[in-house]
Amino acid sequence: MAKEYDLVVLGGGTGGYVAAIRASQLGMQVAVVEKSELGGTCLNRGCIPSKSLLRSAEVFKQTKEANEYGVEASDITLNFAKVQERKNRIIKTLQQGVHGLMKKGKIDVYEGFGRILGPSIFSPMPGTISIEYENGDENTMLVPKNVLIATGSRPRSLPGLELDGEIVMSSDEALNMNELPSSMIIVGGGVIGIEWASMLSDFGVDVTVIEYMDYILPTEDEVIAKEVEKQLKKKGVHVVKGAKVLPDKLQKEKGVTVEAEINHHNETFSADRMLVSVGREAVTSNIGLQNTDIVIDKGFIQTNDFYQTKESHIYAIGDVIGGMQLAHVASHEGIVAVEHMADRNPLPLDYDTIPSCIYANPEAASVGLTEKQAIDQGFDTKIGKFPFKAIGKALVHGESGGFVKIIADKKTEDLLGVHMVGPHVTDMISEAGLAKVLDATPWEIAHSVHPHPTLSEVMGEAAMAVEGNQIHG
Ligand code: FAD
Repeated sequence: MAKEYDLVVLGGGTGGYVAAIRASQLGMQVAVVEKSELGGTCLNRGCIPSKSLLRSAEVFKQTKEANEYGVEASDITLNFAKVQERKNRIIKTLQQGVHGLMKKGKIDVYEGFGRILGPSIFSPMPGTISIEYENGDENTMLVPKNVLIATGSRPRSLPGLELDGEIVMSSDEALNMNELPSSMIIVGGGVIGIEWASMLSDFGVDVTVIEYMDYILPTEDEVIAKEVEKQLKKKGVHVVKGAKVLPDKLQKEKGVTVEAEINHHNETFSADRMLVSVGREAVTSNIGLQNTDIVIDKGFIQTNDFYQTKESHIYAIGDVIGGMQLAHVASHEGIVAVEHMADRNPLPLDYDTIPSCIYANPEAASVGLTEKQAIDQGFDTKIGKFPFKAIGKALVHGESGGFVKIIADKKTEDLLGVHMVGPHVTDMISEAGLAKVLDATPWEIAHSVHPHPTLSEVMGEAAMAVEGNQIHG
């Protein structure tokens, strides 16, 4: 028996379930097909669990340093089982929340593996969804007017470097370690690798990051990446750059040993465990794309600005289309896609206005162009930079490292990019995102009064610094 819907969403991650809610608000009959857990990577294996562990690491580190604040604490120990319990509780609470939202939106959730079929007795167009169940129940058929592919991504490894899930892990397994290793090699100094390096180091693990490029955090402005590296090194993280890990030189005896080629010679690194964080690949296999005209390029589904694939009634959003692989990006792409299906004339997303964040200690956050990108695109730039060490609240917090850097166009005064490193910048970057959306100039940011004493004053000062008018520096 086939059931008809206005929209079937394939994958109930952050992109998929948010799109389903918006579609239901717009009056569509919606179903979500999810093979694992609603909430996808972000809730179950990504943003939320990693931030929960990062927070525990931060509390552990701060408690050890409590004497500096006049709070005398001794015999501070870490109960990692409790750290994991707390993380799992948070996941459970949020999972229940998503299930509640599906119920509220009268969205049908099918817990099985969805696949797109070609033209069939159900529909002359590709897009009928067949659902397979793990328990062997008979397949369900859904016949939608529109399909939204939101199947996300999974960790990838280096060619020849096999993830065994125990000694050599991806972030999926690392999040569920029962106990902390005493040392960890992290292959890849991108966002996920650097968050793990910071967290493990704050938990007291001896961490070595091995990065292929000559710098870590390749998507960030150079000065931000350098500041993060400086602060990581200060807390004892070994950062090895320009190093090519050689998978055929991997040995797993009493932990893990691997060689890396650095400047034409090989160096050996050993640790208890290895975490491979070299990027994520789109989940496109086995979902029936061969039954459609959908185009894949470099592993990612290709779409137009409204996320329509070559089959105009089949849309795709989130990690499966590549680009900024972030949870808030996936959900906003989902909203645009669904509003387009409903003829609501949505505006395409402007990716230059979307913040991205690194939740390491120190945090980093950015929106818009890096200085190099701005110069490469031919802009004549002017820069305002202001350090946290001149902000009273940062000293009160005991976290006064880092700064804000604002890049503006000399000719038009337009804001080109904002880059932050330091305390709570992942919460403060939204002001820069709003400024970009509203096309604000640095003068307008400075004219908006920032309350005192707050960390946000750094943004007002950096905006004034674009014209050299900063007050406290
Ligand atoms: P996913 O969340 O991956 O969801 C896809 C869903 O589709 C999954 O639930 C999967 O089970 C399901 N699915 C796949 N195939 C099928 C099928 N055939 N049938 C049925 N269901 C299927 N982003 C941030 O913005 N902030 C962060 O702090 C952050 N931290 C991260 C930390 C880590 C360790 C990782 C790995 C990622 C992090 N991300 C973060 C990235 C973020 O998790 C992803 O960008 C986001 O989850 C993408 O959402 P999505 O809906 O596209 O895909």
